[in-house]
Amino acid sequence: MASQRVAVVTGANKGIGFGIMKELCAKFDGIVYLTARDEGRGKAAQAELNKLGFSPKFHPLDIDNQASIDKFAEYIKNTYGGLDVLVNNAAIAYKNAATEPFGEQAVNTVRINYFATLALCHALFPLLRPHARVSHVSSCVGFLGKVNGDEPQAAALREKFSSSSLTEEECGNLMNQFVKAAQDGNWKELGWGSSTYAMSKVGLSALTPIQQRAFDADTRADLVVNSCHPGYVDTDMTSHKGPLTIEEGAVAPSYLALLPPNISEPKGAYIWKDTTPVD
Ligand code: NDP
Repeated sequence: MASQRVAVVTGANKGIGFGIMKELCAKFDGIVYLTARDEGRGKAAQAELNKLGFSPKFHPLDIDNQASIDKFAEYIKNTYGGLDVLVNNAAIAYKNAATEPFGEQAVNTVRINYFATLALCHALFPLLRPHARVSHVSSCVGFLGKVNGDEPQAAALREKFSSSSLTEEECGNLMNQFVKAAQDGNWKELGWGSSTYAMSKVGLSALTPIQQRAFDADTRADLVVNSCHPGYVDTDMTSHKGPLTIEEGAVAPSYLALLPPNISEPKGAYIWKDTTPVD
């Protein structure tokens, strides 16, 4: 059992995560875990995949709950001894019409999309086996070059996020600075963008090369992490306005999850929906 290869997809009960499940079930040489924060929705999605002839396993996983993360990590460790693929797909986005105050949206969005994803990485990265692949589902709005204007404050933030010496701690501090600015109402003056979702994804995109540098220094061979923009996809998150199908949205995240062993690139990179790297 311990030698079986294992892949895990978060927020896999619907949308792009469900599309990634289909792709990995068809192409990954091992067991694929559909994880979801709600057991009923997760098992219903598992049953849908069964109807398509796939046999994924299910495990509950709420990335916004440390106890749930710890339980899942313990389960994977005890059952398989390690992990080969992690797709960080789970995320939230407030609708444009949301009435919650901007500061509250910032707290919740950054906590789930950035810090909860990071907490899952902290729990699962020690279990990654040599040649493991980590795929972060970011967004084109998490591409800093597109987010802010040319004001000095925005340019300074852009420089900090894209610095090749940025640490995980500094990246987390920047995320917390954004949340504080959102709560204080001065985020624009300080150079931040006006979408809490975009800022959370900027953090995730910036985290990726930091994590790759740690992988490069790791004794385990050939650990690779990348992030991607899946395209504008027809899901609940976009109120079904995106033109792409979930299968099309799954192309880039699945490509990163299935990168072959010992590649020289992409590593710590950000790739576009058609799998082209973007600086
Ligand atoms: P959906 O809203 O359709 O699906 C989001 C998934 O994440 C759901 O399964 C949801 O579970 C899950 N989720 C949310 N919070 C948690 C949590 N705390 N723990 C575990 N799972 C959670 O979104 P999409 O499929 O559109 O988005 C998938 C990814 O793609 C996200 O990272 C998103 O930011 C990114 N993306 C999407 C784009 C698009 O055009 N759709 C464009 C760019 C990026 P539940 O069903 O229980 O709510």
